[in-house]
Amino acid sequence: MACKLTASENLFRRAEKHIPRGVNSPVRYFDPYPFFVGKAKGAIIWDVEGRAFHDFVMGYGALLFGHAYPPLVDALRDQVEDGTLYGAPTEAEVELAEKLSEVYPSLEMSRAVNSGTEATMHALRAARAYTGKNKIVKFDGCFHGSHDSVLVKAGSGASTFGVPSSKGGIPGAAEHTLIARYNDADSVRKAIKSTDEDVAAVIVEPVIANYGLILPEEGFLKELREICDQYSTILIFDEIVTGFRLGKGGAQRYYAVTPDMTTLGKVLGLGLPIAVYGGRSDIMQNIAPLGQVYQAGTFSGNPLSVRAALKALEFTNPDVYTRASSFTRRLVSELNGIIEENHVNATVNSLESMFQVFLGVDSVRTVDDARRADTGLFKKLFAHALSNGVFTPPSQFETNFVSAVHDESSAQAYLNAFQGWVRGESRSG
Ligand SMILES: *Cc1c(COP(=O)(O)O)cnc(C)c1O
Repeated sequence: MACKLTASENLFRRAEKHIPRGVNSPVRYFDPYPFFVGKAKGAIIWDVEGRAFHDFVMGYGALLFGHAYPPLVDALRDQVEDGTLYGAPTEAEVELAEKLSEVYPSLEMSRAVNSGTEATMHALRAARAYTGKNKIVKFDGCFHGSHDSVLVKAGSGASTFGVPSSKGGIPGAAEHTLIARYNDADSVRKAIKSTDEDVAAVIVEPVIANYGLILPEEGFLKELREICDQYSTILIFDEIVTGFRLGKGGAQRYYAVTPDMTTLGKVLGLGLPIAVYGGRSDIMQNIAPLGQVYQAGTFSGNPLSVRAALKALEFTNPDVYTRASSFTRRLVSELNGIIEENHVNATVNSLESMFQVFLGVDSVRTVDDARRADTGLFKKLFAHALSNGVFTPPSQFETNFVSAVHDESSAQAYLNAFQGWVRGESRSG
């Protein structure tokens, strides 16, 4: 008798034949196969069979206003009618660059690109050109996209799948990337000195959101600023997650540290592909055709993505952040209650509307702490939550994202799933 496949399993079998592992980005895969999406609205995502999940992935952080945010849907519909690609500049791009530098004063000049990977790649190239130096410093566990010079000891999917340093990169590219330890400013000084001060840029996620969630210790980011000044090195804040998430002004306003260059993405596009890199105008004036640093893109600054970014910048109601953060604070406090009551060896890191539960460890302040977490146990928690209608990132080394439209039903679903899993574990343990 033929066994009836679920619609997702059917799609997965087809997908695997023509797409590596059936997915267009590695973290989307999980055992035995991912659910395939039918549609999404607000904080809920439905699979192709119509099963609903409370979504804590939220496009890996992009969807601060939830899925299919009505004002965005309207704006996009209008824009589609007027064309989606011109190959010529628009007023909306000017407005975007102007507004970005109001909200992020450090972004005196910026360029719109299509993905975070592009943004960090071009920012690093601009920093090398400006300083005339060759090497960069990145931090173990930070993720900056998937190009050669940053795919060294990277977080996110790169660590989940055991390839923190990718094969196939240009030989030698990784040798120009020095690795420092997050929350350890001395390791940055040492790295820079080891190169005869040949470091063009220090690139950092001001808050690590790609190795689970790891917070900067008091003074760490300020110290990076001082070190970069001392050694004439460009400080790049990769705010692709933190920008528009820790409040409108990102981590640089939140922690009051001004980088030389910044990359933005994710929330910036509210689900459409757009990212930005930029910074001091003396650095950005080297970009072609004004200067000699080449960067171009067919879809860069396309009117659809720019419309979305203008929507992200347009809202003025601070309730968006208050709501998402207080939802998260309450959820985390109840999670901690369950953990304590049941003597679970676990800890929760959170900041504003981001949180992650680490299993098998009682505190995570460094990337090495996170590495000690029990990823096998985490997979079980993920599977249990999923079968109870809660979709979280499938990896211990990702972060849950809350939107402004998550409500009590999502909080209850998450807590019930966690509570149920804890009970099941204690029975089987
Ligand atoms: C997601 C992410 C990137 C890569 O952005 P893509 O749009 O996926 O290329 C870079 N840096 C950080 C901090 C990110 O979280």
